[in-house]
Amino acid sequence: MSESKTDVLILGAGVIGLSCAWYLLQRGRRVTVLDRGRVGGGASHGNCGTLTPSHAAPLAMPGMVGQALRMMWRKDAPFHVAPRLDPELLGWLLRFARRCNWRDFEAVNRAKAQILTHSRALIGDLVATQGLNCGFAANGTLYVFREQQSLDEFGWHLDSLRAVGIPVEPCSAAQVRALEPCLRDTIVGGVFHPGDAQLRPDRYVAELARVVRAAGADIIEDCAAEDFTTAGARIDAVRTSRGIHRADEVVLALGAWSPTLARRLDLRIPLQPGKGYSITYERPALAPRIPLVLKEDSVCVTAWADGYRLGSTMEFAGYDTSLNRLRLDALRRGAARYLREPEGPRVLEEWYGWRPMTWDDLPILGRSGRWDNLTLATGHGMLGVSMSLASGQLVAETLSGVATTLDAASYSPQRFHL
Ligand SMILES: Cc1cc2nc3c(=O)[nH]c(=O)nc-3n(C[C@H](O)[C@H](O)[C@H](O)COP(=O)(O)OP(=O)(O)OC[C@H]3O[C@@H](n4cnc5c(N)ncnc54)[C@H](O)[C@@H]3O)c2cc1C
Repeated sequence: MSESKTDVLILGAGVIGLSCAWYLLQRGRRVTVLDRGRVGGGASHGNCGTLTPSHAAPLAMPGMVGQALRMMWRKDAPFHVAPRLDPELLGWLLRFARRCNWRDFEAVNRAKAQILTHSRALIGDLVATQGLNCGFAANGTLYVFREQQSLDEFGWHLDSLRAVGIPVEPCSAAQVRALEPCLRDTIVGGVFHPGDAQLRPDRYVAELARVVRAAGADIIEDCAAEDFTTAGARIDAVRTSRGIHRADEVVLALGAWSPTLARRLDLRIPLQPGKGYSITYERPALAPRIPLVLKEDSVCVTAWADGYRLGSTMEFAGYDTSLNRLRLDALRRGAARYLREPEGPRVLEEWYGWRPMTWDDLPILGRSGRWDNLTLATGHGMLGVSMSLASGQLVAETLSGVATTLDAASYSPQRFHL
């Protein structure tokens, strides 16, 4: 069996693993990234590609449990928990439910705002300085409503963003339609977030891989990490489907797959796969200029020069690999309620991905307390693309032993005893 040795070995070539690689290379480290599939073939592939400081608010908030229970009875609801007896899922849901209070809400809102805002700035800079060809546009995002009551009840969102300094602008029906002629006349109003942006996520990941390779990293595809050998409190080697890899430092960036491999190290990462779907089309003639969130139906709409995507839904169904037709159709039906031309002329891809969801809605970034040379970079939930570069920077700073740009305490693996 072949053997190789590197300075930092990153497990997972999704948007997070590659972001870690980029910043480690900037600090002069020798880096190898390995992935069991192709670069960016996990959740980083078909997501909606929005960069959203506007999503700082956590999912867990007062009233959320009741709302989720009501949705349980609708099979095509945007949020669904497939009923099953899984103690890990039940524990996760219980902890999530306990977080549905304003005190935790405000703490998480602050911690997410910090990393999202910083990452949004870093991504804009990297796209410009490295010439990343990924459809980046600093257009903002627009939430739109078709029911007055939902819009009236959304005041908490404006307050929560203003509390953390993220710009947000309420819009009348006329303003929304002037911004987006693709919307139906039935839209009652909206909320614009000027600080948000968009990109095409598969291209962004491919471009990250390009600059990471150009900076000297080795990226090995079709190479699954399978197990570890350890010596004392250190990881000595990673056993993969293509041989033994030794490294001074190991970064675990396996997205929703992180818990499975971490169990080999006696670490229980409290993470559930939150399944989401997208449909990618050729661009319709009347496509939105700004990424849209169709609020009552929770559908995200993103258009690029050469494509158009409907995405969303959050399904807790374990590692279920089926492409659920009901959920894909719910995206289409949701879009038709808001848009004059809800679908493009031709479907290019129907896709699902697993978001790595922690119950406190914060990523897990930093050194393990159990293994001296293991760093965790996972748990980015609904916002891994948005948080990508700030996460990579934080990991590289931590591994270099320098002060972190962001206050890293809220993201620490220690909160889960990892
Ligand atoms: C429908 C949908 C829409 C979304 N929209 C947005 C959005 O608009 N904006 C945003 O910021 N985020 C969005 N997200 C979330 C975002 O996609 C994720 O948070 C992000 O992609 C997570 O990146 P990651 O690198 O941690 O995981 P992944 O991209 O899943 O990467 C993990 C990698 O690990 C590899 N791997 C797994 N096991 C092994 C192993 N044993 N050995 C080696 N390699 C292995 C996998 O092959 C994979 O490539 C969305 C997600 C979904 C599902």
